Amino acid sequence: MQSVDMTGKRILAFGAHPDDIEFGCGAVLLDAAEKGAAIDLVVLSRGEAGTHGNRSVREKEAMKAAEMIGAQVQFPSTAGDTRLRSDLEITLMAAKTIRRCLPDFILAPSGHLNQHPDHRETSIIARDANRLARYGKTPGLEGLDPHATQALLFYDISSESLGGDGMIPFLVDVSSQAERWKDLMACHESQTGNLDYVDLQLSRARTLGIQSGVRYAVRLYSEGPLIWSSLAGVAEAKAPRL
Ligand SMILES: [Zn+2]
Repeated sequence: MQSVDMTGKRILAFGAHPDDIEFGCGAVLLDAAEKGAAIDLVVLSRGEAGTHGNRSVREKEAMKAAEMIGAQVQFPSTAGDTRLRSDLEITLMAAKTIRRCLPDFILAPSGHLNQHPDHRETSIIARDANRLARYGKTPGLEGLDPHATQALLFYDISSESLGGDGMIPFLVDVSSQAERWKDLMACHESQTGNLDYVDLQLSRARTLGIQSGVRYAVRLYSEGPLIWSSLAGVAEAKAPRL
């Protein structure tokens, strides 16, 4: 497959906790950044209710990880860990962020129910904010031009995640990023006392890679149909099976 230049493209990734983005789609972001994309991360809590670490440690870990990606990271003021709820206030805050960052792609946690409620709520917040950001006269967003994002995509955090109703899964080849992804996840030292979580994500990516004929692949989801310009595009995107 050809390497695609992403210079000029912008990606905005939402996470509920400081490690969500890196564990869920860090390899995809590393790959996009290497191809020239500019990346913004928005983390809606500092993981202060987690069993391990504390807010300042976890914020520093997220900043270290963002630096490795080459991304900007923001920690907006919210109700905090375990308290995220998709109300109008936080949705408008996220919509303003979208209008300021002008992303081509938004990445957010998949919204299935069987997971940490903050992940589910962050999914809803991102989805609703993406919609409000493009409407011309949304009250509360005056002064910022409407912005239509090219694609809203979702990533899995939990191992049992399988997207959600109506979501269309697709795979991204991240074979060239496996080692760096491991280092990126390791930035979250407070969460990796044993490396099971890191191994789990790498194992899942390896399994998906084996199934699709590459070394490592990460599964993302689209709510709407994906379109290729021709069958030739499908053939180019489709790696041969082993
Ligand atoms: Zn989380």
